Amino acid sequence: MREKLRYLPSVDSLLQTQAAQHLVAEYGHEAAVEGLRAALEAARETILAGGESPSQKVILAQAARSIAARLGPTLGPVINATGVIIHTNLGRAPLSQAARGAMEAVAVGYSNLEYDLEAGQRGSRYLHAESLLCQLTGAEEALVVNNNAAAVLLMLTALAQGRGVIISRGQLVEIGGGFRIPEVMRQSGAHLVEVGTTNRTYLRDYEAAIGEGTAAIMRAHRSNFSLTGFVHEPSLEDLAAVAHKHGLLMFDDLGSGALLDTSSFGLAREPMMQESIGAGADLVCASGDKLLGGPQAGIILGRRELIERLKHFPLARALRVDKTTLAALQATLRAYLIGRAVEEIPVWQMIATPLEELEARAIRWAGELGRHGIEAAVVEAQSAVGGGSLPGQTLPTKALALRVSSPDALAARLRAGTPPVIARIQEGLVLLDPRTMLPALGDGPEQEEQLLRTLREALTSGS
Ligand SMILES: *Cc1c(COP(=O)(O)O)cnc(C)c1O
Repeated sequence: MREKLRYLPSVDSLLQTQAAQHLVAEYGHEAAVEGLRAALEAARETILAGGESPSQKVILAQAARSIAARLGPTLGPVINATGVIIHTNLGRAPLSQAARGAMEAVAVGYSNLEYDLEAGQRGSRYLHAESLLCQLTGAEEALVVNNNAAAVLLMLTALAQGRGVIISRGQLVEIGGGFRIPEVMRQSGAHLVEVGTTNRTYLRDYEAAIGEGTAAIMRAHRSNFSLTGFVHEPSLEDLAAVAHKHGLLMFDDLGSGALLDTSSFGLAREPMMQESIGAGADLVCASGDKLLGGPQAGIILGRRELIERLKHFPLARALRVDKTTLAALQATLRAYLIGRAVEEIPVWQMIATPLEELEARAIRWAGELGRHGIEAAVVEAQSAVGGGSLPGQTLPTKALALRVSSPDALAARLRAGTPPVIARIQEGLVLLDPRTMLPALGDGPEQEEQLLRTLREALTSGS
């Protein structure tokens, strides 16, 4: 035992190795030395407990792991092979090349974020996405805030605090992550006035609830569930007409807020922002990173006078977005304006990918694995749009299917890959859906190679 302890390398000798030099380059001398010391201490303990002396390679690997655990990034890319396009846990919408470029361009140095280049004086940060949003939707004015939850909170706080907001009982929704319409309403100081029943609410229910202290009628989109059967809800046109007849505001929380018609891709129709403006809503709000396919943001559209009041409300400052968000949003919106959204915006590219292309990709993966003696099938499956849009709606896909003794164990090994691969387990099979894989983003075969490498490693490290 004493012999073994004596033969353990010193920190200084370990530092001479190439592996340790990599650690020094990446994390600095001090952290590298600390990591090596800790790994040596662990080796000593192993020996004192009667274990075998770990090799130098094992000690260095242990040091690398402990340093990475302490100083490495916790946030990083993953490969989404779940087939859920707008996956909130996986960062929602991947950004277009144009959006990424625009973010980098303003991140690297200074920008005219709040500077009027013509006048040579202070300008407005609100300018940058506003005109594009108005051109796309027909709104008079627009405002961008941190996310759609912030948009709803700002709208209610600034325009309905201390007064009533009428909403159907069928729309008192929870979006997830604790965002519940009744709670946001309470937080804003507006009084919730619920009308109708869960399944049926009539125009006359709204009219009967209007009183002295009513500020607005609100509609909230049922983003993540659907109500079918014996149901009724007045149209937005009719609701807006009733609101305006009584001098009230009409708010429309769209959630996903599409700019393109999802029904032309074999899906149900998700309400579009331009339709809500056209139907007479005074303010419409939506997320930037759901079907819009841009960065996290909350978009508020509507009447100039109302948007101006929101902009000058103190809470707006607390909810404002930064320059990289505005840059990405502007680039994303431009793709819609030049008619290239389906070609350029990943969310729409994924929705629009033809089944034959997905099948060809899955077959290619199966063939690649087959060359390494790994058996994989190509099966019919369903992709989902996700992210609080089009609940229950799916797109047919072809997925790579792996049959192993423990699907959970394989999924865990895939998650441990670099980068981690997130798969889906269905009917005892581990499924990998090509629809949400990045070739659609114009990133080329790189991600596919990473996926196949991680798959091979996971499938050969015991199954
Ligand atoms: C998603 C959603 C929200 C919240 O939007 P975030 O951008 O996630 O803050 C609010 N309302 C509805 C109807 C939604 O679908």
